[in-house]
Amino acid sequence: MRHFIYYNFLLILTLFSCNSRTNNIENTVSVPSDKEVSKDLIVKVKQRDFKNIVIKDSSHITNGFDFPVGKPNAKGYYNAQKFQENNHLGDDWNGVGGGNSDLGDPIYAIGNGYISEVKDYEGGWGNVVRVVHLYKGKLYESLYAHCDSIIVEPNRFVKKGEQIATIGNCNGAYYAHLHLEIRDSVGLDIGGGYSSDTTGYLDPSDSINKNRN
Ligand SMILES: [Zn+2]
Repeated sequence: MRHFIYYNFLLILTLFSCNSRTNNIENTVSVPSDKEVSKDLIVKVKQRDFKNIVIKDSSHITNGFDFPVGKPNAKGYYNAQKFQENNHLGDDWNGVGGGNSDLGDPIYAIGNGYISEVKDYEGGWGNVVRVVHLYKGKLYESLYAHCDSIIVEPNRFVKKGEQIATIGNCNGAYYAHLHLEIRDSVGLDIGGGYSSDTTGYLDPSDSINKNRN
């Protein structure tokens, strides 16, 4: 009887150790890679730091938004593909001259903020600038795509109306225009530019028109 209990105890121990080993393997598999974790952490740290820095120096808070072309009212430009037209997640700003007449025209920051990213995403995106804004206590992100050239460095503050880039054609993929997005969720993936799910995205022109200084 004593032996029987002892062997049972051993059997249970063995089962437990096998089980915990299996769990460890499953846990290892389900944890995101170091790269994904660190990317996520960088975005979170930047958001926290940005709020802290801005709160200490209120000149970085934006008092509203202007249009990114023909400043401040988009004079000489028209919105060729509005938000949610064909599921578009932004606005497409084109010069009234059509074609590539606006190639190289200046793109301005829509509000005071912090350059959180400057990157060539290639493909349908091309050169992208992202700016984080603190407005009425909440963080927003403006995203400027297909740029011909980017004239600002990342991780520095910009003022509303300051030139950050020039209008491009995404290496000849389109006629020159600016694809502008405004997001109320900061640091999301670049995304696909088109979706019927607008979670994290705002109508850019509507947001600008309702929040002028
Ligand atoms: Zn677009």
